Order: sequence, then C-alpha cells, then structure tokens
Amino acid sequence: MPWLRNFVQLSAAFTKQRSPPTRKPAAIFGTRPSIAQLLQHYSAVARNNKDPGLDPTKGDEKPRVVVLGSGWAGCRLIKDIDTKTYDIVCVSPRNHMVFTPLLASTCVGTLEFRSVAEPIGRIQPAISREPGSYFFLANCTGVDFQNHQIKCQTVTEGVDTIKPWNFKIAYDKLVIASGAQALTFGIKGANEHAIFLREVHHAQEIRRKLLLNLMLSDVPGVSDEEKRRLLHCVVVGGGPTGVEFSGELSDFIKKDVSQRYSHVKDYIQVTLVEANEILSSFDDRLRTYAIKQLTKSGVRLVRGIVKDVQSEKIVLSDDTDIPYGVLVWSTGVGPSPFVNSLEVPKAPGGRIGIDEWLRIPSVQDVFAIGDCGGFLESTNKPVLPALAQVAERQGKYLAKLLNQVGKAGGGRADAAKDIDFGSPFVYNHLGSMATIGRYKALVDLRASNMLKEYRWRDLRAGLFGAQRI
Ligand SMILES: Cc1cc2nc3c(=O)[nH]c(=O)nc-3n(C[C@H](O)[C@H](O)[C@H](O)COP(=O)(O)OP(=O)(O)OC[C@H]3O[C@@H](n4cnc5c(N)ncnc54)[C@H](O)[C@@H]3O)c2cc1C
Repeated sequence: MPWLRNFVQLSAAFTKQRSPPTRKPAAIFGTRPSIAQLLQHYSAVARNNKDPGLDPTKGDEKPRVVVLGSGWAGCRLIKDIDTKTYDIVCVSPRNHMVFTPLLASTCVGTLEFRSVAEPIGRIQPAISREPGSYFFLANCTGVDFQNHQIKCQTVTEGVDTIKPWNFKIAYDKLVIASGAQALTFGIKGANEHAIFLREVHHAQEIRRKLLLNLMLSDVPGVSDEEKRRLLHCVVVGGGPTGVEFSGELSDFIKKDVSQRYSHVKDYIQVTLVEANEILSSFDDRLRTYAIKQLTKSGVRLVRGIVKDVQSEKIVLSDDTDIPYGVLVWSTGVGPSPFVNSLEVPKAPGGRIGIDEWLRIPSVQDVFAIGDCGGFLESTNKPVLPALAQVAERQGKYLAKLLNQVGKAGGGRADAAKDIDFGSPFVYNHLGSMATIGRYKALVDLRASNMLKEYRWRDLRAGLFGAQRI
C-alpha cells in the first residue's frame, strides 16, 4: 500500500520539521501497532501541528516537481521525469491512474476493474523509494503562486474515525493536471441520482446496481411495470462515452442476460438520450452507420433535453417521463471548482490559460496540462479537445521540457527565467475511435478543419522545427 507508506512518511516528515512527538508509536502501541492505530496516531500528530508540510528544498536536495493529479496527463509526466534531476511529489485523491477508454467494459464484466487501474508506484517506482519523493492522498485546495506553495487537504472518505486535515507543500515546479469534472448544466437531481462514468468506483456502482436490479426483478411480487423500470438503463449524453457504454450494455443484454437471466430478458432495455446529434464530432456517414447499428442492437435513441432528474425517472423538456433503474450521465466535462478558484487568466471554456510551452505565463514555474488547461486566446491556438491523446502527449512533452530545464540548471524555483525552453508543444490529432458494440467500431481519421488551420498557421509562423510528438 504505497499511499499508506507515504502517508506515514508524510506524517514523519511533519513531525521532523515541526514539533516531534515525544513518544514513538511503537512505544505507545507495543512493537506491532495495527494500521488503524497508526492512522489514528499520525493523524492526531499532524492535527496538533499548525500548517504541517514540506518546506522549500535546500541546496543539498534535488529540486521538487509537484504534480497535481494522477490521470492521463499527470501519470505520463511522472513516468518520464528524470528522478536523478528531480524529486517528485504527486498529490491526488486517488492512488492510481484509470485507463478511461476501457472503463465502460468493466461495468458489465467484459473486463475486470483491476485491468483498467494502474497504481502510481508502478508507473513511477521512485515515488515509493526515493527519500524526497512522495504520493499524498489528498486534494489540492489552493495555490500560493507568490510563495511557491500549495495547500492540500487529506482524503479520508469512508474512514469515519479520521477527520481530514490540511498541509502545505513548497514546490520548485508545479504541474497542474487535475482534469475536469462532469457537466450537469445545473439540471436538478442529476448529481444526486445519476452515476457518472469517470472513476473505477463509478463503474463498480453501475455493475452493482445492474446486477441488483436483475436479481430483484426476478423475485415474486414485482409488477411488470416495476420490472420494466428496474431493468431500464438510461444513458444521458450521446458522445463517444455514452455511445460506447450503450453498446457494451446491449452486448451484455444479448449475450449474458439472455443466457443467465432468461426469465427477465424481455423486460430489459437501453435508452440513449441526446439533445442534439449522437457522436457529433464524427463524420456524418459514420454517425448514420452508428445510429443504424445501435438501433439494430436494440438501443432506443431518444432526442430530448433533460430538465429534471428524480430518483426513479427523468423528465424531458416536453414533459415526457422516462422511468429508469440505472441512470448513467455523460454529457461532457467542464472546469472543476478547484480550477475555477485559481486566480489566473483563463482560456475559453474556463480552463487554466497556458502558452505554447504549457506554462501559466502570469506566474513563475507553473504549468497546466490535460483537460484542466487550454491555450490562451493570445496564442491564437484553439483549446484542444478533452482527450487522453492530448493529455498524454502534453505530459510526455512537459517531462522532456522539465528534464532539459533541470539539466540546464533551471530546476529550482525562479531559476528558469533565462533558460531557453526550446520548441513549443504542437498537437497532431491521430483520429478518433468509438466502439458501438457487437465487435464494431467507428474510426474517424479525418484531420479536422481546426487542425488543418493549425498546421497552416504553424507553417506561416515558420515553426518547421516545432516538436511533433
Ligand atoms: C469513460 C471515459 C472514456 C474515455 N475514452 C477516451 C478515449 O477513448 N480516447 C480519448 O482520447 N479520451 C477518452 N476519454 C477522455 C480522457 O479520459 C480524458 O481526456 C483524460 O483522462 C484527461 O486526462 P487528465 O490527466 O487531464 O485528467 P484525468 O485523467 O481526469 O485526471 C485528473 C486527476 O486529477 C485528480 N484531481 C482532481 N482534482 C484534484 C485536486 N484538487 N488536487 C489534486 N488532484 C486532483 C483526479 O483525481 C485525477 O487523478 C474518456 C473519458 C472517460 C470518462
């Protein structure tokens, strides 16, 4: 359990820097304290110290790169950072990376949950081994850009006996890779009743509910109407995630439900609700094909705008009620409250504004990558789509850039002002794919108009040497 080891190291670091505890845990609990005793002991120690944390690095220590987030962008960066040049501290509310493109398959058991989650310590072993590198299970709650310091709060969800506490970390370089959050457009009840397919625990919840409803609908005493409700899976949002999940569900119904729950197979139904076109970013012909295939697989496509979400039904703007047993919400992403709280210039759409080197230009030593960042309007570049292929390549690019800066002597806080950052980041779209069930998928390899224009502008600007990754 790397997070526990780091948690104990963090607490030890706090106690070293501030007031050391007068009694060691072994003296209190005997030679073999339990995990629960250790957690309680160290959380009490940390709480007794005001503003514990990691101080600025000193001359004999490596510069410290602090990475916020353990998603596609953050993990790619962490993997490639040269740990001889830097210490890495990753702060994230989850101790693993999620391979999101395969998440939908875990909801129906096509894949196991462990197949889509990779622990941070495996992605970058130095985090578990190096004395100055850590993973902290926490949320960053604020950044003091002037003093090169972040504020964090521990995540203790599900552990009632431990109250979260705050701590601070000084950084030499800060990389914000905290992603985005699901958009609900303020629709009443969506947060309370819908499941968002973004994390492994969401997929677990969908699977649990699906199986529970299948079991319940087979029990005597359930009316036909209630059976239909329990076994109605409604997906809101016809983007790639909503479509892929609907395809997985229809496969599950065709294969597993027909065989293993044949008493109720005629009651189960998948409905995909979309306000506009499904798969709107794909070519028209591919979209037409997807609609045909999904309909053939038994997915009911409904064009409508959801105005209200209740515990057992959604209501559309034309007052149509759609009862459901499982409701999955996937209507795109937007900036998180953390990103909104940062007082830096923003890109269109509210993302953190960055320049071509992925820096936040108004402050020193801070970068933003992945879904949380977007090019500032002044760069004349479009905000890139919220995609793993963007996030991953930005992480790779920035690791290389930071390694170069570190080797050139610019690793410490405020030390990179006169260092040449080299070629800017250039995004080259490789195409889009969406599976639609029954072993079928759409692949769109068109270079979008946006990206054609992008290349033309780069040529005009004479950026032939720009790095394409
Ligand atoms: C189901 C699904 C399928 C997808 N399929 C594809 C696909 O096929 N192809 C594709 O290109 N893209 C796909 N995407 C999109 C892709 O997953 C995202 O674009 C990508 O995850 C963005 O990476 P990121 O690192 O910016 O954010 P994320 O991967 O979301 O990671 C953000 C990290 O930041 C952490 N965090 C959040 N707040 C804080 C905080 N305050 N402090 C510290 N840490 C914080 C989070 O816990 C998380 O670890 C899919 C997304 C989903 C949900």
